Amino acid sequence: MLLNSLKATNFAGQLVLPDHPEFEQMRRVWNGLIDRKPLAIVQAKNLDDIMKVIEFTQRYALPLAVRGGGHSLPGLSTCDGGVVLDLSQLNQINIDPVAQLISVESGALLGSVDAAGAPHGLIVPAGVVSHTGVAGLTLGGGMGWLSRRFGLTIDSLLAVDIITANGDLICTSQTNEPELFWGVRGGGGNFGVVTKFHFRMHELGSVTTGSWEYELAHSRGALLRLADIARTAPREFTTTFNFTRKNLSITAFHSGLPEDGLKTVPPIGNLAGAGVGKFDRTVFTTHQSRSDEHACWGRRYYAKGGYLAELSGEVIDCMLAAVKSTPSPDSEIYVIQLGGAISDISDDATAYTGRAAQYYWIVQPIWDDPKFDVECLAWGRQIAAQMTALSMDGNYVNEQADVGGELALKAYGAEKFRRLQRLKARFDPSNLFRLNQNIQPSA
Ligand code: FAD
Repeated sequence: MLLNSLKATNFAGQLVLPDHPEFEQMRRVWNGLIDRKPLAIVQAKNLDDIMKVIEFTQRYALPLAVRGGGHSLPGLSTCDGGVVLDLSQLNQINIDPVAQLISVESGALLGSVDAAGAPHGLIVPAGVVSHTGVAGLTLGGGMGWLSRRFGLTIDSLLAVDIITANGDLICTSQTNEPELFWGVRGGGGNFGVVTKFHFRMHELGSVTTGSWEYELAHSRGALLRLADIARTAPREFTTTFNFTRKNLSITAFHSGLPEDGLKTVPPIGNLAGAGVGKFDRTVFTTHQSRSDEHACWGRRYYAKGGYLAELSGEVIDCMLAAVKSTPSPDSEIYVIQLGGAISDISDDATAYTGRAAQYYWIVQPIWDDPKFDVECLAWGRQIAAQMTALSMDGNYVNEQADVGGELALKAYGAEKFRRLQRLKARFDPSNLFRLNQNIQPSA
């Protein structure tokens, strides 16, 4: 009966049922660990399709998974026995380079936004992997190479068009439904289906980048030195580093004037003796896709992160000890520098929580063979618990491969969580949008 009712619904886009030849491929999400079988996938072609899916899933009390780029670490953009609302075909981008504005439909990927801005020397600050979805990343906050200079992705957001649980289309901004606008900037997909994001853009020239590998034996000294440099570095500078059982790899990035970049980046190759690597000047889009393959679709991933006030010796020792016991060669601990423009904005100004942090760490086991699932997940959770003990309160909801329990409460803190609950009670009282780091409605 459910399927008949779905079949009778006149979608402009594609209705993909389990007997469809593309169903197997279309139900897959980025994380190969996730293997869920929805009742149906609706690949929406217009807003009416989205409204129909909302109405249908509510009428039959079915799980509704909203999918942008499909990169949710815990696989929240798919579900068992419910409907996946696949927005990938709603991916139009309109740029006004003179006004430095861009509107982006919610099925677009980061790389398309970069590509649209590049000919005009304009960007929206976002993440570090270009095949990530704009929607999920933005709704959680959005951190990357340019966040220290221009803020989180949500800090460039002027408005979003969102369809709420009762089917209303609202363009929310600082002046229209400002509380909802506060909530969608960090509150994830809790309040409805976003159909379009409206961003202001920023001017960006070429960038200076460098990457160096250090032996583990030299990594403590190298990172303590890096922490000293990063502490007083200009906002144009951002560093990330990756620990694996094999080595420490440090990347430095500078988005300012070439002469400043060439003063700031190359010294990162000489932190503790000479690292193996090089620096270059390039265009942002090239740098932005360098990690795409490393973070490819279909491998098995777990990730959990947390905020650091500083890169202390104690934190470095914890990571160094942890990587010596990684359960697979590609498992890693990744750290990105924050601060700068992110911290200019008060933590109360948006639902995103953690603006005072100077770094974000992610413990990320990566493997392929299901027989290592238990071991890899156990390592990820154990090391994350050790790192959490050294971390600040609050968390970034987008980098959590676990869901439920007190995760959302702890991520936002009690006061903000209550505010989000009231907002949720107003816009989604029946908790239709619950496949996310869920905020249970409470008036
Ligand atoms: P999806 O799985 O499609 O969506 C995730 C969730 O977002 C959904 O479950 C739903 O709750 C919600 N959602 C999606 N679309 C909509 C919509 N239109 N309306 C309402 N809700 C919606 N984060 C960073 O900040 N910086 C990074 O550099 C970064 N790099 C990453 C690299 C990789 C390889 C991966 C896997 C993740 C990365 N992340 C990063 C985390 C990323 O922000 C989240 O995984 C995010 O959820 C991905 O968005 P998506 O649209 O691809 O995901």
